[in-house]
Amino acid sequence: MVAPDALDVALIGFCVVLGLLIGSFLNVVIWRVPRGESIVRPPSACPKCGKEISARDNIPVLSWLLLRGRCRSCHDPISVRYPLVEAGTAALFGLVAVRFGESWAIPAYLYLAAISVALGLIDLDVRRLPDAIVKPSYVVALVLLAGASLGEQDWPALLRAVVAGVVLFAFYFTLVLVRPGGMGWGDVKLAGVLGLYLGWIGWGALVVGGFAAFLLGGLYSIGLLLARRADRKSSVPFGPWMLGGALLGVAVGEQLWSAYLGVL
Ligand SMILES: [Zn+2]
Repeated sequence: MVAPDALDVALIGFCVVLGLLIGSFLNVVIWRVPRGESIVRPPSACPKCGKEISARDNIPVLSWLLLRGRCRSCHDPISVRYPLVEAGTAALFGLVAVRFGESWAIPAYLYLAAISVALGLIDLDVRRLPDAIVKPSYVVALVLLAGASLGEQDWPALLRAVVAGVVLFAFYFTLVLVRPGGMGWGDVKLAGVLGLYLGWIGWGALVVGGFAAFLLGGLYSIGLLLARRADRKSSVPFGPWMLGGALLGVAVGEQLWSAYLGVL
């Protein structure tokens, strides 16, 4: 019999390796989805010389290091963002395993980690949260969270998730109606998905995750103003902060909320 500790370590290791592979796929998603291209075909090629990338040069992180960040055929530099996306996704996947342990909730939250990386970077690149990713995520999130509720025998969590999804969607919907130009409909649509995920964890996670988006986004805007990199009218994408806030809410939202109530 395997000791529980060894099983936990194996689970974390498995998630990290899976994260490297998914991160490699997300690099394709981040580049192609905003351009309306297929994420399946054609196979990845060097943008400079068009040479197809061979399997041995497509190993996450390692290939980039071995090639010293250059294309094997034309020696044009390959952005450091590719290995960073792979390593970052692997780190997030590992954290999901640490956060949930041996739980049926893991697939659902690995999916959240993956779309967070993809949507956050696409929003930074092109100031959009593509429907092609956000809309199917409602279905995927609901199915995976239902699976988590089935496995954990926790149906109230699923009901709470649906209510929280509606609440966060309605909150952002109202914000956009009251103050058009601040946020976009892409943010409203994403809010429903994030509400599902935060609500499944608990109401504390929803409050902390929802609030953290505005705190992080606000601090970033103030930082930009102080660094004179932006004026008051510059548009700052809000999606990355919504996603970062939600991940924070999932990770420590319940604990922060109880601590806050304890202080009161
Ligand atoms: Zn090349």
